[in-house]
Amino acid sequence: METITYKIDNHAIDQNIIKQAASVIQAGGLVAFPTETVYGLGADALNPEASGKIYAAKGRPSDNPLIVHICDFADMARVAAEVPKEAKRLADAFWPGPLTMIVEKNGNVPYETTGGLDTVAVRMPNHPAALALIRESGCMIAAPSANTSGRPSPTLAAHVAADLNGKIPVILDGGEVGIGIESTIVDLTEQIPLILRPGYITEAMLCEVIGPVRTDPGILDANSAMRPKAPGMKYRHYAPEAELIVVDGEERAVVQKINALAEKMQAQGKRVGVLGTDETSAAYRGNVFRSMGSRSDEGAIARHLYRVLREFDEDQVDIIYSESFATSKMGQAIMNRLLKAAGHQVLKV
Ligand code: AMP
Ligand code: MG
Repeated sequence: METITYKIDNHAIDQNIIKQAASVIQAGGLVAFPTETVYGLGADALNPEASGKIYAAKGRPSDNPLIVHICDFADMARVAAEVPKEAKRLADAFWPGPLTMIVEKNGNVPYETTGGLDTVAVRMPNHPAALALIRESGCMIAAPSANTSGRPSPTLAAHVAADLNGKIPVILDGGEVGIGIESTIVDLTEQIPLILRPGYITEAMLCEVIGPVRTDPGILDANSAMRPKAPGMKYRHYAPEAELIVVDGEERAVVQKINALAEKMQAQGKRVGVLGTDETSAAYRGNVFRSMGSRSDEGAIARHLYRVLREFDEDQVDIIYSESFATSKMGQAIMNRLLKAAGHQVLKV
């Protein structure tokens, strides 16, 4: 299959391009499109065959459900058995935006879209191309991240092409995404709403709008007895090809430890990558150093994380050592992705 990429001007959406992409969705095909979090791989959410194509293109396990993207809050009632009162309050506060809500599904939603679950994940993305595509297609669009399953999520259209070229008909290229890590997922079917995946919208921000919210203990601690409730959170994920080890501790001790490890591995003939920050860029002696950005700007770290992990694949390093981050605010989402990319290999110093 030939993959056609259309450049999108996010400030002046070309409706002709959107119409072509929308017709692919309506016909049960796949379209990769930008959102503010990461690129999504979309299909008609109510068409089981179309949803099935997403799993095939990504190589995604069939028990890993998709997020249904809508462009009007009223559309939640088209997929939900009942719209909880918290949903409206959260939508007023955060939609369109990087928040996904889990609610009980109704009979319209095929199990192919929900990975066999009786609940459905719903989000209204804050991106003009995504909203235009949903609106023009008249469909609700099921979309997970537009990467091959297990690889880092795409933050550039080039990442989508690297993974899915020849497997999907259309990529909409809206440039680099704004946030760079996936949406916060909050489960509203629990007595006390439960965060299943941390993201840009933090527990504190949700609490301010709907009162008490908890966070799934399975998502930061690999040793937790609890299995993460979002099926997708149990897989090694977001991962570069090389082994990745997170070194955690006070900054100077981390730099020292990483340099010592790098020297040891290089002596064994291994090519070593170091994943650090602007503050420490001059301190390392690995073969390849990449910075995620400045520690003073968590948003930049989040936006660059996946791109940098992919770049290490091109560097053909054998092993990567990474600094770690405080788990407050957005740092929690960054650490969640980093730990998953590392398969929870952490060295404390
Ligand atoms: P992705 O968009 O690629 O990040 O994948 C969607 C994420 O949402 C995965 O981690 C899924 O496990 C999660 N998800 C989607 N639907 C549900 C649901 N009904 N219940 C729990 N988690 C869900
Ligand atoms: Mg994904």
